Amino acid sequence: MTSPLQPLVDGFGRPVTYLRLSVTDRCDLRCTYCMPEQMRFAPGRDRLDVAGLYGIAGAFIAGGVRKIRLTGGEPLVRKDLPALLERLSDNLSRGELDEVTVSSNGSQLSRMARTLARHGVRRVNVSLDTLDPDQYREITRGGVLADVLEGIEAALAEGLRIRINTVALLGVVEDQFEPLLRYAHGRGMALALIETMPLGDTGVSRIGQYLSLTAFRRELEQRWTLSASTAKSGGPASYVTVGETGGLLGFITPLSCNFCASCNRVRVGSDGRLFTCMGHEGSVDLRPALAAGADGSALDGLIREALRRKPERHGFEVGKAALAGGIVRHMSVLGG
Ligand code: SAM
Ligand code: SF4
Repeated sequence: MTSPLQPLVDGFGRPVTYLRLSVTDRCDLRCTYCMPEQMRFAPGRDRLDVAGLYGIAGAFIAGGVRKIRLTGGEPLVRKDLPALLERLSDNLSRGELDEVTVSSNGSQLSRMARTLARHGVRRVNVSLDTLDPDQYREITRGGVLADVLEGIEAALAEGLRIRINTVALLGVVEDQFEPLLRYAHGRGMALALIETMPLGDTGVSRIGQYLSLTAFRRELEQRWTLSASTAKSGGPASYVTVGETGGLLGFITPLSCNFCASCNRVRVGSDGRLFTCMGHEGSVDLRPALAAGADGSALDGLIREALRRKPERHGFEVGKAALAGGIVRHMSVLGG
């Protein structure tokens, strides 16, 4: 169902134009800020098939969503991802969507870059917190840095635009910022720093991981020439241009500088649950409505009702108690 309906708007009048669709909660890595080493994933029977994921995507496209980010877990571990990409590429060709983008840890990117490019993906976010292979293995609990770097080269060779996403980990980013910046900008890629958010128990203290990017940015301004940029990627990053490299640097500051007023997005998990805000536990199960009717009206109605109750802002806070507590759900359920 992709005929235009009334545009989707939340209860605060914010248009909803961006869907983040998690295609799996599974992952081949176990990043220390994202999930515990012995992660318990949702049972396979709860995972929507490609038709289900596409049915939900279609309902949002019909309501005016222009951008879909496929995420996870690690989206590239899902074997039938090309089938979903193929269906979404039809929406791109018909001009019903501006963009299909992907968030990935890069481990499978060398194998998948061509498939992504062939199906109309033009931009990929690749997570990378350090260029030190040992530190990378530690942070990801087993990841191989060389695989990611190879994946990035393969994606660039396919003409994909890449943004490197770096979680600003206290004790890591201070040393790794410059190597990552030079690496990213040297290859024409943007770099975005993300504040650690308190989502799910990972077996590692958040308090020891959190660094305020508002404070870190002030430090960077002493050493680098940062000028405000009008660049937008459709998400919450605010960008500057780095004079010394000419490249873009983004700051994603959910905790130290709230950006909810301009929120244009919602998230759907691979089990069909709609989360209108990542920073709240509440969700709406879209599966019954998905199963209910071929014309999609039940699904559309349920989505609109959920949007009317979308919270004004997330509840994340800085401070020891808030960082130690937070949301029970892991980041891998919704993919950022
Ligand atoms: N596996 C893919 C990846 O790593 O890019 C996609 C899913 S991952 C959950 C999406 C983004 O969320 C990544 O950039 C990751 O670094 C970030 N992330 C994970 N846990 C986080 C947390 N607790 N706080 C902030 N960002 C987090
Ligand atoms: Fe996997 Fe991405 Fe979470 Fe790391 S951040 S464990 S790569 S889902």
